[in-house]
Amino acid sequence: MHRLKTFTVILVILILCEAGIRPVFGETEVFQLLKELDASLKWEPFRRMGIISRGTDRISFMVGSPWILINYRERRPITPVSEDNGRLMFPDDAVTAIKSLLVMEPADPDRLRVAAILIDPGHGGKDPGTIGGYRTDGNAAAGKTVKITEKDVNLAVSIDLFAALTAAYPDKKILLTRNSDTYPTLEERVEMANSIHLGRNEAIIFISIHTNASLNSKAKGIEVWYLPPEYRRTVVSTETHPDEPEEVLPILNSMLEEEFTVESIILAKKILDSVIKEAGQKTENRGLKEESWFVVRNARMPSVLIELGFVTNNDEAALLGSADYLIQLSRGIYNGIKEFINYFETTVGFTQ
Ligand SMILES: [Zn+2]
Repeated sequence: MHRLKTFTVILVILILCEAGIRPVFGETEVFQLLKELDASLKWEPFRRMGIISRGTDRISFMVGSPWILINYRERRPITPVSEDNGRLMFPDDAVTAIKSLLVMEPADPDRLRVAAILIDPGHGGKDPGTIGGYRTDGNAAAGKTVKITEKDVNLAVSIDLFAALTAAYPDKKILLTRNSDTYPTLEERVEMANSIHLGRNEAIIFISIHTNASLNSKAKGIEVWYLPPEYRRTVVSTETHPDEPEEVLPILNSMLEEEFTVESIILAKKILDSVIKEAGQKTENRGLKEESWFVVRNARMPSVLIELGFVTNNDEAALLGSADYLIQLSRGIYNGIKEFINYFETTVGFTQ
């Protein structure tokens, strides 16, 4: 048995030498490591950055970086991971650190959880948002026009969503950026989100709710926006992480940014799918969109922006003027958030 093992090792070395690759002892190739740990890898080739995940634990690393980041919070020094002909090589000390984190630490007490949800009804007060309306007799000239204002639609859906989430999650902080016809500035909304105190392994999600308008009166439907993956944000700074050495910040930043983008896309998809499931027969699915919206861009957390429909489309404006339809939209958003929380808190998380 032992001899066979030695033979295999020599054979592997010969094959590697043949291929012109010099094997380095004291390193483990990433797929070997994943196999040993029964973990999965999400690899971002452009930034040469990866996340190893198992259960709810995630370990972020970057080629050449002398740190790994555990569950997006805690940093540990390692000998840098290297890349050799497309193979990711983990030095022994990194392997030991990762193994001890994934194998030794009981996952449950520290499991990642969504601790807070901030709902942001767009506009308000002096800023009405978009304005449209519908005619009570369809498009015929004889009818009466009912005005629909975005800030009211956003608020009605947000308040219903707030109530549903508060009832479902008494252990989470559910917050609104406004609960009446007032106007917090965009900066104030983001500041509210960023100032919520979170414990270790706790996350917050940010849901901004808006209503659409178009010069094309036929345009209708629901869309959900998230930040484009290539958009650079500063999520970590000397302000947010005063104890970290300054040279660490750009790396932490890339790692966290990657995480928020991935989570935002998943959150956006789950919300869109469940809103369409709820209201799809009455409206249209305009799909997921990428945009560097201010509110989405500056929130240091998974964040999405939902456009509920077009106040400039007669039929859709009539729907948006109906309390029942707004509850239906809210129910759809609620189901999507619930699915995201289940995924985030209990499932494997990242998949290939
Ligand atoms: Zn808006």
